[in-house]
Order: sequence, then structure tokens, then C-alpha cells
Amino acid sequence: MKRLIAIIASTAVAFLGVAHAQQFLTIGTGGVVGVYFPVGGATARIVNEANVGLRLTVESTGGSVFNVRAIQAGQLDLALAQSDVTYQAYNGTGTFDGEAFEGLRTIMGLHAEPMHLICQSSANVEGFRDIAGKRVSIGNPGSGIYNTVLAMLDAFDMSEADFSAEYLVAAEQPDFLRDGRIDCFFYTVGIGGGAIRDITATADVDVVPLDDPELQALIDEFPYYAFATVPGGTYGNQPDDVTLFGVKALFVASTDLSEENAYNIVKAVLDNLDGFQATHPALATLTNEDFVSGLGAPLHPGAQRAFEEAGLF
Ligand code: GLU
Repeated sequence: MKRLIAIIASTAVAFLGVAHAQQFLTIGTGGVVGVYFPVGGATARIVNEANVGLRLTVESTGGSVFNVRAIQAGQLDLALAQSDVTYQAYNGTGTFDGEAFEGLRTIMGLHAEPMHLICQSSANVEGFRDIAGKRVSIGNPGSGIYNTVLAMLDAFDMSEADFSAEYLVAAEQPDFLRDGRIDCFFYTVGIGGGAIRDITATADVDVVPLDDPELQALIDEFPYYAFATVPGGTYGNQPDDVTLFGVKALFVASTDLSEENAYNIVKAVLDNLDGFQATHPALATLTNEDFVSGLGAPLHPGAQRAFEEAGLF
């Protein structure tokens, strides 16, 4: 009898297991002080609560380049990535020269990611060229930050040899600046990112404008760059609007993600748009157009279906 109960119990457990079959997918983000991390977290929560058989979890990573390579290697299922990195990976240009990742797909276009150049006020940096001779962190090599700074240096006919380059991860940069161990750091991050808000509120630093003609030339040449305006008062010591050069954030995956899963993820976000947008100020101003423009790689067919059903196409 005991044995029979055990068999019935284990059969019931197995049955329940099937009934609640969940697929576990991991989202690669960025440093915990950035915007990718909370945006990834919000997406995971919304999709998990939608009960569509998916269990999303979020991982903090070194940033865009790491994320795209990890998707290609099958180590991540989904990720946030910059538009420049995504475009270059899909087309095999820039950092990905000769190694096109043709299976890369975009799930959703998201917020603008201006390049923030934050410097000690005492360093007197008023524009990009003034970083010459300074101690400047340009992000870790797996970051989108580093990738974008390299293109900017090229546009100004400058190189890492023109200053004392540090390759700090995003989370370390503000503390190094605060402690005077660097003069400046770069961070491609959504407007209102926590790391920038904290350092500008608590240290004597400047948000340096990045609106030079050299950057306009980059925008004219490549579809994935744009200027963005940071409204006055967004950060400490930034009373006026400031124009910054930058990219946009994308939610990406590969053709390994099923049509149904991509559809369910996008549909869950669109069905809960208010909650999604409320999770971070960088998302608050998202428009329908932002979801489906500047995508860097082809839209995943499942995402396309969800956007079509929602009337975005
Ligand atoms: N854009 C940054 C990168 O790719 C990450 C920004 C963020 O974490 O919000 O390295």
C-alpha cells in the first residue's frame, strides 16, 4: 500500500511538473549602477507575472559587447545592448570586423543612451578634445562604453595614447573619480542613470557637452548614432540643457529564441506598458516609434507579430 501511495505521489509530482513546465531564460544586462540592470529586472518581472511558461532571470554583466558575444556563444538567451554594438555585430564591422553574427535579432528598441563624460570640475574639461593628457576611464573592454569611445577618438583623430587610459567597469568609475584617482570617466547610459545622478549630486564634477562637428560627422556616416538632449536639472551642477552624442539601447536575442517566446516577451511588455515605463525615468518618455526604430539588427519575427498586433506597424 505504502508503495502504491508512493507511486501515485510521484506520478502526481511528475504530472504537476509537466503542467507547470517553465523555460528558464537569462537576460544579460550591465553594471548594477546602470539602466540595463533595472530595465532587465522590470522585463523579467512583467514576463514572469504574465504566466506564459517563461521564467526570466537577470544577470549583471560587463555590458553590450560582452552580452552580444555571450548570446552568440549560447551563454545568454536575451540581453540589453547598444545600437552601435548590435549593428556592428550583425554586419561584421567595427569591433566585430569579419565576424558577423547573422543570427542576432532585435526584440525591442528602447531608450536613448547618451555618452556621459563626467570630469572633476578642477580638470577644466569643456569638450572631448580636452581629455588629452588627463587620466580618463573609458570603460572595460566588454562594455559598449569602450566600443563607442573608440569610434569617438577616431572621429577626433585621437587615440588612447593621447591620455592616460583606465579601463574600469561602470560600477567602479564614480568612486575612482570621487577619490581623485581619475580626472574623467565615460559612461554610455540612459538619461538619469543612478551612477551619474549620485556622483553629480555629491562631488564637484561637470557633465561635459558632446556636440562637436566631428560627432555630427559620425552621426551623418552611421545610422546608429544620434544626439540627445539631457534636460537642465537632470543632474547636479547641470542647470541648463546639455547636448550629448550617443546611441540607443536595444533588447536583443538570437534566432535561437523561439517565435512564441519572443512574441510572449514583447506582448507582456506592451500589455503592461505603464508599469514598464514607471520602472526607470529613462523609459518614461518612450514612444511607439522608439520600440521599432534604429534596431541595428533585423526584428525577431515573434516581436514583429506582437508589434503588428499592437498596431505599431
Ligand atoms: N551601455 C552600457 C554598455 O553597454 C551599459 C549601460 C547600462 O548598464 O545601463 O556597456
